[in-house]
Amino acid sequence: MPTATAPEIVTTRAALRTAIDAARARRRSIGLVPTMGALHAGHSSLIEAARRECDFTVVTIFVNPAQFGPREDFQRYPRTLEADLAAIGKVGADLVFVPDVGEMYGPQHATFVEMQGVALPLEGAARPDHFRGVATIVLKLFNLTTPDRAYFGQKDFQQSLVIRRLVADLDLPVEVRVCPIVRETDGLAMSSRNVYLGPEERKQAITLSRSLHLAAESVAAGERDAEAILAAMRELYRNAPSVRLEYLVLANPDTLELVSQLTGPTLAAVAAFVGKTRLIDNQILLA
Ligand code: AMP
Repeated sequence: MPTATAPEIVTTRAALRTAIDAARARRRSIGLVPTMGALHAGHSSLIEAARRECDFTVVTIFVNPAQFGPREDFQRYPRTLEADLAAIGKVGADLVFVPDVGEMYGPQHATFVEMQGVALPLEGAARPDHFRGVATIVLKLFNLTTPDRAYFGQKDFQQSLVIRRLVADLDLPVEVRVCPIVRETDGLAMSSRNVYLGPEERKQAITLSRSLHLAAESVAAGERDAEAILAAMRELYRNAPSVRLEYLVLANPDTLELVSQLTGPTLAAVAAFVGKTRLIDNQILLA
């Protein structure tokens, strides 16, 4: 693995291309870690994976307006560039791309990637146009950075399926790598949005990971009936009045089709508002 040195920081596509061309001229394999900043240990784990597996690691920081709905938190999404650059410096990436919105979406921008199939249920249903924004920015970042491998977190499980689909359908020469969910010590999945939580909300937010854990235990004990597992999970939310479930599902991890009986690895996925903060979490249940 290359030793950690301060990464080069670029803000324009032209400067990014120059740096990528230089890395390619030195025959470096390129790893891409796309982020929206407000970095935490989950992001660092992706950067570490890229550093292990690639010669030249590119981190992008861009709060992508196209993936936020009109009533979502684009404006108030945490922006912590100084701390992010320090965190990236610690892990040791080679290049950080921090464009502004105008650099990524010119005034005439008219092209978006429209996806169906795995992009439609769950997050796709709750957040119309979300994956259209994600697929569009990820394709642009792939085109700009020409990565050999790109790193995503299982935290956004459906997003990883959407990206795999995008890569397969559009014949993109990128290997998609999905890294495990990094959690706080009490189980809460790390998220840039956790800073929104008040103290009581923070306590109740662990209900999400607890319910997933309960599902895993129940499956380990032999339960295979989806409705029985879901009912036990829902019980936990009765003690968390600040948590409003948006969906709580057991689904096929390849197609996202809901299952009624567990006959193999099954995705347990949850989305909930904790106060005004929307959180997601998931776990693969080994049936
Ligand atoms: P974001 O900055 O929230 O868009 O996330 C950037 C990448 O980090 C995405 O691929 C996420 O799935 C991943 N990520 C976010 N939170 C975590 C986490 N707790 N553990 C692992 N990966 C994560």
